[in-house]
Amino acid sequence: MRIGALRETAGGEARVAMTPASAGDIRKLGHVCLIEAGAGEASGFSDEMYRAAGVEVVTDAAALAQASDVVVKVRPPEPDEVALLREGQTLVSFFYPSSSPELLEAARATGATVIAMDMVPRISRAQKMDALSSMANIAGYRAVIEAGANFGRFFTGQVTAAGKVPPAQVLVVGAGVAGLAAIGTAVSLGAVVHAFDVRPEVAEQIESMGASFVFLEFEATQDGAATGGYAAPSSPEFREKQLAKFRELAPQMDIVITTALIPGRPAPVLWTRDMVVAMKPGSVIVDLAAERGGNCELTVPDEKFVTPNGVTIVGYTDFPSRMAAQASTLYSTNIRHMLTDLTPAKDGLIVHDMEDDVIRGATVVHGGAITWPPPPPKVK
Ligand code: NAD
Repeated sequence: MRIGALRETAGGEARVAMTPASAGDIRKLGHVCLIEAGAGEASGFSDEMYRAAGVEVVTDAAALAQASDVVVKVRPPEPDEVALLREGQTLVSFFYPSSSPELLEAARATGATVIAMDMVPRISRAQKMDALSSMANIAGYRAVIEAGANFGRFFTGQVTAAGKVPPAQVLVVGAGVAGLAAIGTAVSLGAVVHAFDVRPEVAEQIESMGASFVFLEFEATQDGAATGGYAAPSSPEFREKQLAKFRELAPQMDIVITTALIPGRPAPVLWTRDMVVAMKPGSVIVDLAAERGGNCELTVPDEKFVTPNGVTIVGYTDFPSRMAAQASTLYSTNIRHMLTDLTPAKDGLIVHDMEDDVIRGATVVHGGAITWPPPPPKVK
């Protein structure tokens, strides 16, 4: 089959869904690889590098879609990209079906199949295709780098001839994939790291990474710990306890990185205005939940600003794109693994097996029908 990667058109998006290296692996599955001219430029992959890897460089999006059986990209397609799809073709990209019913319907009407990388079930077998995790890992790392770039001090404590420097105090709220990456990065830079999550089972992971778990005195089994390893909304009582703890910590923290999310809901507001006001001048908040409204009450999505009391609040929503070479390398590998599963005989033929939990789970449009939401996966 012919696998073609589109150039991303969203403003500022620097990632690409196919790298010269991933194309080499896709070709080993018996496929032919194509790329839209300039698609890899912003992540450091020139057309020449693709040609050297045996990839055909195609002039524009329409020609690319026309020539491809499977179209791969990063961001959900724009309406004009959906219009390029046709019956029998497959699109593989992020899609976020729950927040884009119109896009879903437009894709269905084309007769194409859509595999949403954000819908890959989070079961062990599918970890190699888990693009949400690979991007969250980058976002967590980059959040710390961003915090450091805006913090006028060291992370690590030092005793120098010119004086003693205390280590930075970092609080990470939410210890999912992004939060754990942030913890690891901040610890490796020498900060003293504290972390909180509503899921008590992550306490051990937090501590094994060299951070301390922020314990809350709470009677019932921890609220919000909820189902299947995912968080659920907290009760008002639990939330009050949590906010009281954060109020106590706010004046002591130099850097706060918030990553708390509940699947399918707006981000919970956990770092309120008064906590920002209580922080020291020069402190930094990086809000990784900005895209879903923000965990910090003052976050402005896609912006960085300094409050009147000197706290920098970073609400960027494009952290993976800010590390485009790394993000493209990992995302294109997730895509390549998806194509591997779609090419069971490694003979260049795509088999769309709707009995396969992973393929079924990620397929949101197929055979002229909307196939989202999927039934629950049969295996763990
Ligand atoms: P996420 O990005 O959806 O959420 C981030 C974190 O925020 C979660 O840890 C959540 O518990 C926490 N949170 C929610 N409300 C909070 C609050 N009020 N205060 C503090 N923290 C709060 O998380 P994620 O990285 O997608 O991971 C979520 C779950 O998925 C975890 O159980 C993780 O182990 C699991 N997971 C499994 C796989 C796999 O098996 N392949 C891959 C990735 C993640």
